[in-house]
Amino acid sequence: MSVVVDTEGRQTVLVVEDEESYQDALAVGLSAEGFVVTGATTLADARALLVRTTPDIILLDLMLPDGSGVDFCREVYHSSRIPVIMVTARTSEVDVVLGLEIGAADYVTKPYRLRELVARMRAILRRPASTSEEEFIAFGDLRVDFVRRSVTRHGVEIDLSRKEFDLLALFATHLGQVVTREVCLDTLWWGMQLSDTRTLDTHVKRLRQKIEVDPTQPRHLVTIRGVGFRLDG
Ligand code: CA
Repeated sequence: MSVVVDTEGRQTVLVVEDEESYQDALAVGLSAEGFVVTGATTLADARALLVRTTPDIILLDLMLPDGSGVDFCREVYHSSRIPVIMVTARTSEVDVVLGLEIGAADYVTKPYRLRELVARMRAILRRPASTSEEEFIAFGDLRVDFVRRSVTRHGVEIDLSRKEFDLLALFATHLGQVVTREVCLDTLWWGMQLSDTRTLDTHVKRLRQKIEVDPTQPRHLVTIRGVGFRLDG
């Protein structure tokens, strides 16, 4: 157990994992990705660390020598809201984790690729702290409510799919700023190749049809050619 103090504004991750091979690989891999990595091999270690430090994100194995990651995840959710990525050894455990509604931000199944894990971590760390800070953003005739996950125009609800809402929420939290295609793909379609952007374009098109008065002359959701998109108020 070691405590690393972050002095360079880098993001910190607590890896709670009893398999040495994973601990070692993650310590090296996540450090190389710019994270400050702290490791714990038991829940007792992890609890002790959380008394003294507040990591930006926690990577939590489901089965640990002194208990279940499920209980710990619930604890963290209720006490600190630090985002937790659950790590499961079998796909069948995923349903258990999701079914319990333990407040995990995401999950990965072993064996996972570092690249996929990092993409998911970054996506979570980019998410707005919506429930505590900004509950909604209003611009033009539109209002995006992050708590209710709804979008209204003049108070009338617009029917969006989950991905369409996530995409709009991403743009809305960067109102007036360019969001690159890469960030869109990274945030919503983890690790998808930049060359395969048809899915993104399809979602943007559908979003325009729903939120723009004239989708052919978008006033809010503007394309920045070769770069990405910008949502204007
Ligand atoms: Ca384990």
